[in-house]
Amino acid sequence: HELTLSLGDGLRPGCIDDASDRAKYMEFIMLGELVDRARRAGVQVMVEGPGHVPADEIETSVKAMKYVTDGAPLYLLGPIVTDIAPGYDHITAAIGGVIAGMNGADFLCATTPSEHLDLPTKEDIFEGTIVTRIAAHSADLAKPGIKDRARLWDRKMAVARMDLDWPAQFDQAINPDLARQIRHRRGVEVDTCTMCNELCAIRLAKEAMEREEEKAKKKEKSEKRT
Ligand code: SF4
Repeated sequence: HELTLSLGDGLRPGCIDDASDRAKYMEFIMLGELVDRARRAGVQVMVEGPGHVPADEIETSVKAMKYVTDGAPLYLLGPIVTDIAPGYDHITAAIGGVIAGMNGADFLCATTPSEHLDLPTKEDIFEGTIVTRIAAHSADLAKPGIKDRARLWDRKMAVARMDLDWPAQFDQAINPDLARQIRHRRGVEVDTCTMCNELCAIRLAKEAMEREEEKAKKKEKSEKRT
């Protein structure tokens, strides 16, 4: 059987003020020693990192952990970037997750809106998972070696938007049901969205290009006749 030891962090910060204290950085060093010991014994290992870190300390924290653990796979819950948003901690975690992911975190745990408040419901877990996937994908878009593959998805969405191709936009959406529901909630059937509607820049540009093509064709025809 395959087995991976997951080394958690007992001194993980419980608030922004604790994020980069002496105890936490001492523990990074100990985790590095434990990773080394596990590897010498032929046991594969991954490492958990802190959960509350202000945005400007995330890069240092992630890079320090990767350095002292000799690149062991690192997973994080968040880190959340502020303590003042109970009910929105899937979002505070996603903000930190993007920065952590860009700087070397390998795996983001899902954080739900009920973090610090209550056991999550099924809906909370769904919401938290989607938002964490958005954070992970946003980090992938900026990561050397991964970004070219990650950007293909966004490219498909961009093309679908340019074409005002709604089925394709829903297919590419991370949560197609939610996108479809918002699109149709006013019951208005137009080919653009209702943000700019008749002034939709995409539609106006498309119509302008079609007019230009039409003019060019007419000109070509009349030149052939003369
Ligand atoms: S209506 Fe505005 S927001 Fe909507 S697709 Fe067109 S340009 Fe974009």
